[in-house]
Amino acid sequence: MGERGLQIAEELAEGKKRNSKMERLRKLWKLIAEKGLDALLISPPENLRYLAGFTGSSGWLLISGQSAILVTDFRYVEQAKGESPGFEIIQVKQELHDWLPRLICDLGWRKLGFESNFVSYESHHKVSEAIKAKQINLELVPTAGIVEQLRSVKEPEELILITKAVELADAALEQAKAIIRPGVTEKEVAWEIEKDLRQKGSEGVPFEIIVASGPNSALPHARPTDKTICSGEPVVIDMGARINGYCSDLSRTLFLGGANKTFQEIYNIVLKAQATAIEGTKSKMLASQADQLARTVIQQAGYGDAFGHGLGHGVGLAVHESPRLGLSSSDSLVDGMVFTIEPGIYLAGQGGVRIEDMVVLENGKARVLTKATK
Ligand code: ZN
Repeated sequence: MGERGLQIAEELAEGKKRNSKMERLRKLWKLIAEKGLDALLISPPENLRYLAGFTGSSGWLLISGQSAILVTDFRYVEQAKGESPGFEIIQVKQELHDWLPRLICDLGWRKLGFESNFVSYESHHKVSEAIKAKQINLELVPTAGIVEQLRSVKEPEELILITKAVELADAALEQAKAIIRPGVTEKEVAWEIEKDLRQKGSEGVPFEIIVASGPNSALPHARPTDKTICSGEPVVIDMGARINGYCSDLSRTLFLGGANKTFQEIYNIVLKAQATAIEGTKSKMLASQADQLARTVIQQAGYGDAFGHGLGHGVGLAVHESPRLGLSSSDSLVDGMVFTIEPGIYLAGQGGVRIEDMVVLENGKARVLTKATK
């Protein structure tokens, strides 16, 4: 392709990206308006990246029917201009309660939504005080999960990136199997996995890798220790990759030289629970019903109390996002959602088994993205 052709291709790709951002903003505005709000204040980095393409670690978005404003500080202004074309970029020096009332006093908003999970009590208090002091007629309305609801349904371009991240994790697990043997420590295995993920192109690791052997594997979120891995004991490996911001999440339980009777039994129960959940999870189902599918298998086998966490969680720009698959979840599952299915059984003092795959809901049912063997 000639230089001119290349430029056109780049412009087209840029235009496509911008269109998808416009589409996201349109959908978001609809949700904001439905709640009777004039605008929404947004702060989590994943939400900023999703809506504005901004990858800085600190900034705010103000989205209304007429405006898309990205507020950030000196460190990120140039970056914001490059990453978020079409947004009004405003550079601030001070804290939220200093700039927000000043910025919005001319905009005529009466109801401003904020993400109650992400604005601290102190920030909220200071902003409220500043609004009162300036005698601005503005109500701060707590909201939760508006952008997260949009993010939970993936676009085809997002699914491509997630699939790449899944493939990286699958490959890193194969590599781990090749080096893991009795006598190596959990930390050594974790480091080998991390090196391999990064060598293959992962942007860091989205969460600290878990390599938990023997009794440590009974802790669902164990940290790798200096413990050496022995034959016959369960080794839970939980890790993921990140590509262009999008994460993957994968867990497997290995046994060096075969498992004893108890763990053979437990492994098979967890495997059956997972297969049952994958098979039975359908679009339009409640996330709690999907959880129940796996839980029933484990309960019937007599290990109900040993499955102490939810069945899974959405994965995207964040490694834990909507939907949440658990008994107390009120989320509903719809096509386009990407999430984990990861039942486990944990016996304190002995060890645990967790098997985790990522799936996407397509045509009403779950398609497994993970290819790692079990
Ligand atoms: Zn997970």
